[in-house]
Amino acid sequence: MYVYLFFSRTLALCLLCFFMPTCQALALPQIAGLRIGDYSTYTRFVLDVTENIDFNVFTLPNPHRVVIDLPEVSWHSSAQIVSRGRRISGYRFGLFDAGRSRVVIDLKSPIIIKKSFIIPRNKKNLTRIVVDIKPVPYRAMLMEIEKTRKKHTAKTAKTAPPKLSFKQNEKYPTVPVKPLVVIDPGHGGVDPGALAISGTLEKHIVLKQAQVLRQLLVSSGRYRVHLTRDRDIFLRLRQRVAIAQEMKADLFLSLHADSIKNRRIRGASIYTLSENASDKEARLLAEKENKSDVIAGIDLNDKSETVARILIDLRQRLTKNNSVRFAERLVNEFKGKIPMLRKNRRYAGFVVLKAPDVPSVLVEMGYLSNRQDERMLKNKKHREVFAKSVVKAVDAYFTRMRRLHSP
Ligand SMILES: [Zn+2]
Repeated sequence: MYVYLFFSRTLALCLLCFFMPTCQALALPQIAGLRIGDYSTYTRFVLDVTENIDFNVFTLPNPHRVVIDLPEVSWHSSAQIVSRGRRISGYRFGLFDAGRSRVVIDLKSPIIIKKSFIIPRNKKNLTRIVVDIKPVPYRAMLMEIEKTRKKHTAKTAKTAPPKLSFKQNEKYPTVPVKPLVVIDPGHGGVDPGALAISGTLEKHIVLKQAQVLRQLLVSSGRYRVHLTRDRDIFLRLRQRVAIAQEMKADLFLSLHADSIKNRRIRGASIYTLSENASDKEARLLAEKENKSDVIAGIDLNDKSETVARILIDLRQRLTKNNSVRFAERLVNEFKGKIPMLRKNRRYAGFVVLKAPDVPSVLVEMGYLSNRQDERMLKNKKHREVFAKSVVKAVDAYFTRMRRLHSP
C-alpha cells in the first residue's frame, strides 16, 4: 500500500515533469539513504534527507513499531536497508495522507525511543534524521506510549499518534498501562441492603470501604478507579453493569455485606457469575441481591433481571475465566488477614456480574448479623487491611494478564 502510493505518485510526477521543464514537484525533499546501526544497548536509525525537514516520531505496540512522520518526500531508489540488524524486522514507507509521508519500522521486541534529533546539512548537503531506539520490557514501552500520546495530544492534534484502543482484540485484549477498576458499592439510597441489629446499614459499610479502596488503588499510581456511586444514592443493577461496560472497565468489583438468621456465622465470601449456583445459599444470596431494583420500587418490565438463571454465551467465556482468576487472587490475599467462610469461593447468578466483556467479582465482606463481623466492618484499620489485600489481588491479576499478552 505504502509502496504503491509512492510509486504511483512518482509516476504521475514524472509524467507531469516530462512536459514541464521547471517542474515544482522536483522540489520535494528526497530521502537519499537510510541506515541502521546496532549497538549493545540501542539501535540507531538514520534517514538522509536532501533538505532540512521536520519530523515526528512515535511508537505503537502489538505489533511493535516505530513510526516516523515527515512532510511529503520522495524516496531515492537506492535508499534501502541492506541489513536489518538485531532489533528491526522490517520497514515500509509511503504517503500517509495528503502532504505527509510515513516510515514504519517493524520491531522484534518492545522498545522505547531513547532520543531523536536532526543533524543539519553536512558536506554532502544532506540533513540527517536520527532515531535511537532502546529495548525495554513490554510494560515500559506501554507507559512511554501513554506518556507520549498525552503530550502530543496536548501539543497538536494533527501530529499526535493515533489514540490507542486497548480493546482491539476480543480474544486477547491488550492490557492498558493504567487499567480501569470499577468499584461498585452495593445498594444505596432507597435500597439500604442488609441491616445489622445495631442498625448499621450495608449501603454505608460498602460505600466507606469502596472509598478507602479507591484511595489505595489510585495512590499506587497503577490504576484508574471509578465508583458506580460515590454517595448515598440508588442505582439500578443494570446501571451498574452499564457503567462498567460504557467505561470499558478492565475489572469490576461489587462490594456487599450479608445478613442471615444464624448470627454465629461470620466471614467473607467471593462470588463469580454462573448459570448454576454452587450451592443453595449462594443461589438464595444472588436472589436477594438481585432484588435491589424491586426493593427500590421499580416496576420491572424486564423480568429476566430478577431471575437467577443467567445465560452465558461464548463471548463471556474468556471474561468468566478472568473473573474466576481474580476471585482466586482475592481468596489468596484474604487468607490469614480477613476472616472467611469455610466455603468462600462460590458461584451464582448475580445480575450485577453480567457484563459480558468485563471480568466481574462480587465480595460479601462479612455478615452484619454477626457482632464480630459488624464491629470489624466498621473498623477503620480493618478497612485498610481489606483494601490492601484487594490491591495486592488486583496487582497479581494484572501482572498475570500482562505476562500473558506480552509477546
Ligand atoms: Zn448486598
